[in-house]
Amino acid sequence: MSLWRDIGNGVTMGLARCEKSPETCIVILQHKHAGNGADCMAAAVPLAVPCRAGNKENYWTVEKAGLELTLSPSISCPCGLHGFIRDGHWVSA
Ligand SMILES: [Zn+2]
Ligand SMILES: [Zn+2]
Repeated sequence: MSLWRDIGNGVTMGLARCEKSPETCIVILQHKHAGNGADCMAAAVPLAVPCRAGNKENYWTVEKAGLELTLSPSISCPCGLHGFIRDGHWVSA
């Protein structure tokens, strides 16, 4: 399940969770390919929440939750998109 929201600068954010988590544990970013403008596969950003415990892969810290969602560090997509989610908006790096 997911909720989608336009967070600006051409990025739509989806909040999703797995069956092990009662709250959002993955943030998905739909956007245009930074090189050719085609629809880019969403970048999935795992959050540091209990269902990820013990998982040593990279994950992001939630500095602020809810509508003012702020994550650190920055997020990169293989297409070249690079930026931050700050106060619920996409800020290009
Ligand atoms: Zn999860
Ligand atoms: Zn991309």
